[in-house]
Amino acid sequence: MIMPKVLKQLFKNPFTNKFPAKYTPSSVTKFLEDVEKGKAKIIPPIELPPNFRGAVAYDREKCIGCQMCTRVCPAHAIEFIPEKKKIRIYIARCTFCSQCVEVCPVNALSMSERWLLADEDKYSKNLIVE
Ligand code: SF4
Ligand code: SF4
Repeated sequence: MIMPKVLKQLFKNPFTNKFPAKYTPSSVTKFLEDVEKGKAKIIPPIELPPNFRGAVAYDREKCIGCQMCTRVCPAHAIEFIPEKKKIRIYIARCTFCSQCVEVCPVNALSMSERWLLADEDKYSKNLIVE
């Protein structure tokens, strides 16, 4: 009998998490800009597990431009900018393997807890780290 199960389920909390905004925004980039300005609020997701791998974070000041990260990145997600001797990371290409973090000799890279990475434009500000 399926009906008792359906009725029971109606009164249970959903298993899935809500999207981090009350309603799905038409543009995630704009939504994040509004969050920065305090005009929108992110609904916190479930607690992140230890060693969660979100978007790669880059400490530009620490970077010595050695290019080790560009060499190990299996996804070719890191571009070296020769004139600045700094890097640019394309998060849309990243596989979150963390190899760049491990190889960086000056700890300029880390896996952040930034997880809201869905976007219509793979080159949006949200998905470029430099
Ligand atoms: S985490 Fe992996 S895929 Fe992403 S930028 Fe670093 S090395 Fe490349
Ligand atoms: S490995 Fe570290 S120091 Fe070297 S280019 Fe990459 S971020 Fe900069």
